[in-house]
Amino acid sequence: MALESWIDLILCFILFLLFVYIFASVTITNLHKVYLAFHFSMMIWPYCQFAIRSAQDPIYQLFYVKLAFVDASLLTAGWIFFTILISGQSQFLKRKILMLLFIPAIISSLGVVLNPNGWFVLPVNGGYVERIYGPIFWINISILVIHAIVSLYIIYVALVSDQAPRIKHQVMYMLKGILAVTVFLMLDIFLNVVLDDYLPVIPGFTSLGIVISAIFFVITIHQDKVFDIVTIAHQDIIDTLEYGILVLDDHEKVVEINQALHPLLLMEAGDLFDMSGILPGSTVENANFLLRYRECPDEVAEIELWQPDVQLYIHIHAAPIMVNAVRVGRIITFQDMSELRRLIEETNHQNSILQERNESLIKVQEELFQTNRKLTKMAITDSLTGCYNRHYLTQQLESEVTKNREYRAPSTLILIDIDFFKAVNDRYGHLAGDAVICGTVEILQQTLRQDDILARYGGEEFIIYLPDTDESQALLLAEQLKANIEFNKMSIENVDQPVSVTISMGLLSINDFTARQPRDAAAYLSDLFKSVDEALYEAKDQGRNRIVSIRG
Ligand code: GH3
Ligand code: MG
Ligand code: MG
Repeated sequence: MALESWIDLILCFILFLLFVYIFASVTITNLHKVYLAFHFSMMIWPYCQFAIRSAQDPIYQLFYVKLAFVDASLLTAGWIFFTILISGQSQFLKRKILMLLFIPAIISSLGVVLNPNGWFVLPVNGGYVERIYGPIFWINISILVIHAIVSLYIIYVALVSDQAPRIKHQVMYMLKGILAVTVFLMLDIFLNVVLDDYLPVIPGFTSLGIVISAIFFVITIHQDKVFDIVTIAHQDIIDTLEYGILVLDDHEKVVEINQALHPLLLMEAGDLFDMSGILPGSTVENANFLLRYRECPDEVAEIELWQPDVQLYIHIHAAPIMVNAVRVGRIITFQDMSELRRLIEETNHQNSILQERNESLIKVQEELFQTNRKLTKMAITDSLTGCYNRHYLTQQLESEVTKNREYRAPSTLILIDIDFFKAVNDRYGHLAGDAVICGTVEILQQTLRQDDILARYGGEEFIIYLPDTDESQALLLAEQLKANIEFNKMSIENVDQPVSVTISMGLLSINDFTARQPRDAAAYLSDLFKSVDEALYEAKDQGRNRIVSIRG
C-alpha cells in the first residue's frame, strides 16, 4: 500500500496514544480508569463486527476478526477488574491472581493473532464474513467463560459478605450485565457457530449482549454515583471542616470557598479576592503580611488577626499551590483561634494565681522554718540565761561519754553552785537575783572555750562539760572561772552598790576506763552526775568559794 494511505492511520494511532497518555496521567480514580478502558473495549467489538462485513479485502477482514477476539480477552479481563473495584473486593487484587487470569488470556490472544495453520480461523469462500473456527477459537472462548465464572464468583463473595447495601445494589447490576452478555455470547456461538450449517448467520448477538450489559453498568454508575463518590466525599470533608478554606487561581479569583468561611467572607467562585479588604486598620504586622502576600506569592504567609466586629481571633495562612515548580494558585485557610486564645489566657491567669500561691506558700514555709528553729532553740535553751538547759546537756552527754569511753578520750564535768545565793535574793530581791544569775553565766561563758558546753543544772547551779580535757587542764580552767566570778562586780538595776558572788565547784575528771562497761549510757551518766554532785557538796562543806576535784 502507498505511504499516503498509511499517513492517516499513523496520525490516528498517534492521537490514540495521546488519548491513552492523558487518560493514564490525569488525576481520576482507578475506578474511572478501569471503567473507561473497559467501555472502550466494549466499543471495539461491535465496531469490528461492522468492519468485518464492510471490508472487501480478506486481509482486513481477518485483521478485524483477530482484533475482535483479542479485544474480547481484554474485555473480560477488564470486566474482572471492574467487578473487583465496584464490589469493594480488593483482597482479589493480588499479583498472583491477576497473573493467573491474564497469562492464559495473553497466550490465547497470541494464538488468535498468529493463527498458526488456520487453527484459530479459516476463510469460507475466500473471505472471513463466513468463517470456520479452529481449536484456538474454542480455547479463547473457554478462557472468556472462565473469566465470566471468576467474575460471578467475586460477585457471589460480595453478596454473601457483609458489604454495605449500596455495594450489594451495584453488584446486583453487575450480575445482570454479566448474565446478559454471557447469554447473548452463548446464543451467538450456538446459532452462528454450532448451527452454522443449518441456519443463516444472524449478526449482532454478542454486540447486543455487550450493549445491554453496558446499559446495566451505566445505570448502576449513575444511580449510585459510583464515580462521583470521591468528589462528593471531598466536598463533604471540605464543607464540614472547621477551618475556612479559600482556593484561588493565579489571578486571585475564587475557585472554591467552603461553608465554614461564609460567615466571614461572602464570596462565590469566580469573584476576585482582595486580601487587603479583610485586613482591618494599618498596623505594622498587617502591612508586613500584605507585602509578603503580594511580593512573595510563592512563599507561605501567615498572620493572626483580631476582628473586633465579630470578636474573633483569626489565623490566616496563605500557601501557594505549586505544580512542577509553577504556582497555579493559592490555598488560604482561616482558623478561628479565639477559643485557643481564651484557653491560653485562662491558663496564663491560672498560672499567675498558682505562682502567687506558690510564693505565699514559700513565705509560710520560711516562717515555719524560722518558728521551728526558734522552737528547737527554746527546747534546748534556758529561758532566763540563754545557755543550754539540763535536758539538752543530758542528751548530748549520753552519746559523748559513750564515745569518749570507746576512744579512751579524757573529759571533765564541773558542777557549779553560787554561794549563799538565797542571801542575794533576800537582800536585793528576786529580780536582782535573776540578774546575778545572768551576770554569772555571762562570765562563765566568756571564760569557757569554743567546744565546752555550759548548761543550767538547777536554780543557781550550772554544769560544764569539757571535752578532751584532763584533770590538770580542767583545774586550771576551773580556777580561772572561780577567780573571774569572784572578782566580777555586777551593776544591777535598782541596786546601789555593785554585787559580786563566789561559786563552789565539784570537778570530776573522767579518764579511768578500766572499770567494767556501764549498763547503759543514761545510767552511766547518772552515776557521773552523782559523783560530781558529791564533789560540790564537799566544796560547800569545806567552806565554799573552792574547787573539789575527784576522778571517775
Ligand atoms: P549555798 O551556799 O549552800 O548554796 O546556799 P544558797 O543560799 O545558795 O542555797 P539554797 O539552796 O538554800 O538557796 C538557793 C536559792 O536560790 C533558793 C532559791 O530561792 C534561789 N533560786 C533558785 N532559782 C532561782 C532563780 O531562778 N532566780 C532567783 N532569783 N532565785 C533563785
Ligand atoms: Mg547556792
Ligand atoms: Mg543550790
